[in-house]
Amino acid sequence: MSRLVLVRDPRFQKHQTPDAHPETPQRLVAIDHVISKYAVAAAVHELEPRRAAPEQVALVHKESYIEDLERGAERLKEKHGSLAKLDADTYMGAESYETALLACGAGMVGLDAVTTGGAHAAFVAVRPPGHHALIDKPMGFCLFNNIAVAARYAQQSCGYKKVFIIDWDVHHGNGTQWAFYDDPSVFFVSFQQYPFWPFDSGWYTEDGAGEGRGCNMNIPLPRGTGDRGYLAAFDQLVAPLMQEFSPDLILVSAGYDAHKDDPLGQQRISTAGYAMLSQRVSDLAKQLQVPCVVFLEGGYNVKSLSESAVATMRVLNARSEAEQGEVHASYLMPFAAADAGHVTGDESAHNVDERIEEVRRHFSKYWRSLRRA
Ligand SMILES: [Zn+2]
Repeated sequence: MSRLVLVRDPRFQKHQTPDAHPETPQRLVAIDHVISKYAVAAAVHELEPRRAAPEQVALVHKESYIEDLERGAERLKEKHGSLAKLDADTYMGAESYETALLACGAGMVGLDAVTTGGAHAAFVAVRPPGHHALIDKPMGFCLFNNIAVAARYAQQSCGYKKVFIIDWDVHHGNGTQWAFYDDPSVFFVSFQQYPFWPFDSGWYTEDGAGEGRGCNMNIPLPRGTGDRGYLAAFDQLVAPLMQEFSPDLILVSAGYDAHKDDPLGQQRISTAGYAMLSQRVSDLAKQLQVPCVVFLEGGYNVKSLSESAVATMRVLNARSEAEQGEVHASYLMPFAAADAGHVTGDESAHNVDERIEEVRRHFSKYWRSLRRA
């Protein structure tokens, strides 16, 4: 078994969205194309997803909501090719229900591979994405919350007790936040451009409820934050916290819409920056000796999405520091195959550092590792 396993399937292209919608099947076609350019294509083991049972999706979602989507898909089968609009920007077609079940099941296949299959990490290249989906309704291009279902499956069926979820999508992972808001066994940390869609969540004072107090961290970063700010937030907040929380599993909601070339976000992460963020996750997983499963979320410039997602795969599959170094160099060299060339700063480093400090201060009442000597 390779260090990394990749779970992908052309069936994920069957979830249809309207013309000109940013969340297109082409996103996965582009990732397939970029993978084929690199050695990682031959090096990783690939696994086929399986369809999650509706009862497994019900570990997170209300049964009535799951049934609504199933019935919706049945109705659309009679109206060949037409789509149903579920909210301002979320759509489903006749195949969307089955595709969403397959996306949840893909996470389970990834988890099985790192639990008993001998892999260290899995990358689950799915759509529809999941982190905005609420327990009883779809939201923001998402139908079922793939990563939330995976976290519950991990606890119920794979023996994991403490799960640490990192969400670096440019948007707040609101669906995941609310799914585990009062649960101290799942730590959720979400980086987002702030203020930004969805405008009613994502501030750092939303820090959990009841026994889960202190186990929900939002890192609301100002518009224009680049590699420097994201990496500083990771090093000063996420790394110490994760060591103190000491999870036995790491899950990542990997959105690539905080890339500087993304049309929806205004953040400035480069492809090299995504490689470095991925490296930090890989290093922490190694240090804590725990596996990690990475879920594709957003990313709407097909070029920056596909290059960055494959950068994550290459980092996670690297076997030695020398190999990791080669991967990073390929994104940092001027005129390299990727578009990167340099590490990006922030439009206002001062505002970013101040925000990181505010978050640290707020959470220092819960976590010793965030207290200053
Ligand atoms: Zn997003």
